Amino acid sequence: MATCATCSGELSPEWRFCVFCGTAVTPTAVDDAAAEAPARVNSIAIIALILAFVGGIPAIAFGHIALGQIKKTHERGRIIAIIATALGYAWLAVGIVLLLRFANGL
Ligand SMILES: [Zn+2]
Repeated sequence: MATCATCSGELSPEWRFCVFCGTAVTPTAVDDAAAEAPARVNSIAIIALILAFVGGIPAIAFGHIALGQIKKTHERGRIIAIIATALGYAWLAVGIVLLLRFANGL
């Protein structure tokens, strides 16, 4: 609960000024609450994670795009993007190993 800086009376969030002493309410408390609210998760990171369960190269591409966007926008989802990219590379490694096995077998 926010309190008035002048009279320490309890303030309702919607009040523009203190009803007890008439002091204008600084909107600091409300702004802090908004700043603490979690930022949205980067949607490209989520797409990259979904792609990571389907195949390799698209997940790597989307993972890197997501990491670039998160760096700029400070959105959430950096861990998701890293996991998606790592899974993408794991898929790629498995693909290369299988390809080499086939190539040797022929
Ligand atoms: Zn007051």
